Amino acid sequence: MNISDYRGVMVFAEQRRGSVQKIAYELLGVGRRIADTLQEPLVALLIGSKLPDSAAKELIAQGADKVIVVDDPALDVYMTEPYAKAMTKAIDTYKPGIVFTGATTIGRDLAPRVSARVKTGLTADCTGLEIEDGTRNLLMTRPAFGGNIMATIVCPEHRPQMSTVRAGVMRKLERDETRKGTVERLDVKIEAKDKNVEILEVVVEKATKKNIEDANVLISGGRGMGNLDNYNRLQGIADELGGLVSASRAVVDAGWVGQDKQVGQTGKTVRPDVYFACGISGMIQHIAGMEDSEFIVAINKNASAPIFEYADIGIVADINKVVPALVEELKAAKAAS
Ligand SMILES: Cc1cc2nc3c(=O)[nH]c(=O)nc-3n(C[C@H](O)[C@H](O)[C@H](O)COP(=O)(O)OP(=O)(O)OC[C@H]3O[C@@H](n4cnc5c(N)ncnc54)[C@H](O)[C@@H]3O)c2cc1C
Repeated sequence: MNISDYRGVMVFAEQRRGSVQKIAYELLGVGRRIADTLQEPLVALLIGSKLPDSAAKELIAQGADKVIVVDDPALDVYMTEPYAKAMTKAIDTYKPGIVFTGATTIGRDLAPRVSARVKTGLTADCTGLEIEDGTRNLLMTRPAFGGNIMATIVCPEHRPQMSTVRAGVMRKLERDETRKGTVERLDVKIEAKDKNVEILEVVVEKATKKNIEDANVLISGGRGMGNLDNYNRLQGIADELGGLVSASRAVVDAGWVGQDKQVGQTGKTVRPDVYFACGISGMIQHIAGMEDSEFIVAINKNASAPIFEYADIGIVADINKVVPALVEELKAAKAAS
């Protein structure tokens, strides 16, 4: 393989039922930065059936220089084999130096299959991506061993350098409709034998719960809440502010809530407008998941708790006195308005 034949960053633009997923825009955000560092192009790969023109236009507005569209009835619903064939052909045709796929269920299924076909390296679930000065190799960082170490992995001798990227970590760009880009169609012949799986039914589960990553206001409780009853009182603040309750790992480990509510290095990365840290000490593994919040309110009885270093407002008090008082104040403010 001649490494210098491979140029540019390719992003897999995951779509479901014709609608491009948020992760695709996050990948364009990090892809744009990497492509600009390398001074190479950023392309989005859109695979599906009867894809609306608006999807490609949106990918350009969100940062792509070029959109490669593979549109075929056989690519209607995600299936490993046809999608792997389409992506492998796109890589063979366009020879990107880097390929990013979201670490979603689809991305985690697709990327290893493709990397084996094109005989290159793949790093899963990356949370940090940088270009190394001098070598221009991609440094792919991911938590390993349950988050106990951060491993930085390079793929110096094979191309493309592939990684799946964790959702919610990378920022998408401001959309800009004046951005210019090209759209190219790529034909991939999907034969009957490529469809070795028959999809009988796609069941779309109704989302009954909102994800903490999507909340504008998060009320996060830690060990300092003391017990489950106290922790549950945080819901009162969430109800008044239209937010959701989340947690530190100590609370998840105590069994007060499920892991889907955990903020931090081994939990979710969140970026709400307001983040309340209630009885949370502010250990680095927690901070890693919430430090980009727009506004942070910390309530802790220990004035030297590290969380105060990150807070926009800090209240040194017993959280169990603050919560009822805050709920009353919020109710009164609502009644008065
Ligand atoms: C590999 C690894 C990965 C990890 N991943 C994560 C992760 O994803 N997310 C995460 O959160 N943690 C994670 N941790 C754990 C992390 O290191 C901390 O142990 C954890 O964040 C502590 O949670 P806490 O702040 O709720 O509890 P503590 O550290 O015990 O803090 C409790 C705080 O509450 C205060 N307090 C006590 N009583 C009151 C009261 N009545 N009123 C007001 N304040 C009070 C105390 O002063 C203290 O500051 C990880 C650790 C490791 C080793």
